[in-house]
Amino acid sequence: MSTKSISSRPRFLVDVDGVLADFVGPALDIANRLAGTEYTEVDVKDWDLFGLPGLREVESRSWNRIKEPGWARYMPIMPGAQDFIRELSEIGDVRILTAPVYSPTFCYDRWMWLEENFGIPHKHVSFDKEKFAHDGDMLIDDRLDNVRDWLRAHGRRRAKSVGTALLWDRPWNQTTEAHPKMVRTRDWNVALHTARDVWRVGWGTTD
Ligand SMILES: [Mg+2]
Repeated sequence: MSTKSISSRPRFLVDVDGVLADFVGPALDIANRLAGTEYTEVDVKDWDLFGLPGLREVESRSWNRIKEPGWARYMPIMPGAQDFIRELSEIGDVRILTAPVYSPTFCYDRWMWLEENFGIPHKHVSFDKEKFAHDGDMLIDDRLDNVRDWLRAHGRRRAKSVGTALLWDRPWNQTTEAHPKMVRTRDWNVALHTARDVWRVGWGTTD
């Protein structure tokens, strides 16, 4: 074990929806029931799933369901996500960075979900849509805009592989637009390898 203090460890910023938790599946279930459609996640080619034909009319009612007490507490866990977070925690400090949802219970339910399923304490969870405002050594997120903006803010200041970001490969982020330091993957092992690279190659080097 390293003799470095906690603050000297690499800092990994990890998104929830689309990375650790399946948001689109259950959200589509709600929207499909309300709209009488049968979409699956491969149909979601754009960030706005309610942009699919017939779903705009049920967007507001779908969100009302998503905001109900308990919904965020019992979201499906992505296969492999728990082992990943456990191993990532051995390499560095894991911090959750997730967009807030405006409801009396959603953020509390998310805290509980993270604590109960991943052992992540609430004080290590930041609710912020502006992910670029948070410093770290690696971001994992499924939203291309988040990855690009974060890399603009943090990708250039760092040595070789530090300040890198993983775009979690999903149907709704397929585009040719990229950033030189962006890694597109949906493989936990690639994510761990990249995280170890941050530790081995980049950490401790000067800006
Ligand atoms: Mg996400």
